[in-house]
Amino acid sequence: MTDHLGAAAQEQSRLDGNALAGPLRELFAVDVTVAAGRCAHCGQIGPVAGLLVYAQAPGLVARCPGCEEVVLRIVRGPDCAWLDLTGATSLRIPLAP
Ligand SMILES: [Zn+2]
Repeated sequence: MTDHLGAAAQEQSRLDGNALAGPLRELFAVDVTVAAGRCAHCGQIGPVAGLLVYAQAPGLVARCPGCEEVVLRIVRGPDCAWLDLTGATSLRIPLAP
């Protein structure tokens, strides 16, 4: 019973993805190359600027300098972009206090 009530309360406080607009706008308005990323494959942490970037693909493919697995991919279309961060478990983005 309490689980059901807890689930109902959780559902009532749930927001849709529009709640991410402000925080994501702040994150992606900065130079992300200074962010520290963690490779999902080997766990190495390093600046995004230190990734090995290949531009021969349709878009940019960034690989980990430690294990050479794909960390992120960016494909720019005529009216949108795709950002694949599957190979990164986190990005630590420095922000002004
Ligand atoms: Zn790695």
